[in-house]
Amino acid sequence: CGIVAYVGTRQAYPFIIKGLKRLEYRGYDSSGVALIENSELNIYKKKGKVSDLEGILAGKELKANIGIGHTRWATHGEPNDRNAHPHYSNSKKLAIIHNGIIENYATLKQNLLNKGHVFQSDTDTEILIHFIEDIQKETGEPLEAAVRIALKEIVGAYAIVVLSVENPTQLIAARKGSPLVIGIGENEFFFASDATPIIEYTKDVVYLDDYEVAVVRDGKLTIQNLDNLETVPYIQKLEMEL
Ligand code: GLU
Repeated sequence: CGIVAYVGTRQAYPFIIKGLKRLEYRGYDSSGVALIENSELNIYKKKGKVSDLEGILAGKELKANIGIGHTRWATHGEPNDRNAHPHYSNSKKLAIIHNGIIENYATLKQNLLNKGHVFQSDTDTEILIHFIEDIQKETGEPLEAAVRIALKEIVGAYAIVVLSVENPTQLIAARKGSPLVIGIGENEFFFASDATPIIEYTKDVVYLDDYEVAVVRDGKLTIQNLDNLETVPYIQKLEMEL
């Protein structure tokens, strides 16, 4: 339902939690955040309000310059802590947040079960991150290529952001049918499902198009379509009021 993510030089958690609150008006049943803290992937999630998530995190240090956060409106799997996003892969190295529905998740899940993948939730979303990891393992391709190959097989709608503990300067985002905005700052990037969490930090934004994959790495943004053709990011000025 709501997506917020950050990579750059400031603390990621305060931006993410504030952003999730700005997206509360959309309605949701649970929320969660994944951060890379000290080279470790840590995921915190909670059924209920964003303030409930904040409650379980109160007093923690949460030092991270990269993170992803989500408010969930359940479509597959009941609303509970376990089904809240972010979800992680078998190796626990990749994490994902997702808005939308993966319609062909059952077939994909069966294939992955046959390959020994173990699932932690009842969501359609979790299948996608296992699938991406499986492709990465089988092809030896970089993460963004694995994301592209996976998305070509997906039937449904999505806005996603993927994080890898192996690269703490990188976020990969994609969309089809669900909106995704990327705010561009000074050596920092803000991702959200609408511009409201971003406006206070930067006015320069790129609206991702359907079938586009955005890769932010080492302070640089590139955009490709699912066929790996690069497109020049079209940067727009936000004119919204706070
Ligand atoms: N289909 C996903 C789920 O049920 C994502 C729902 C959403 O857009 O929040 O977890």
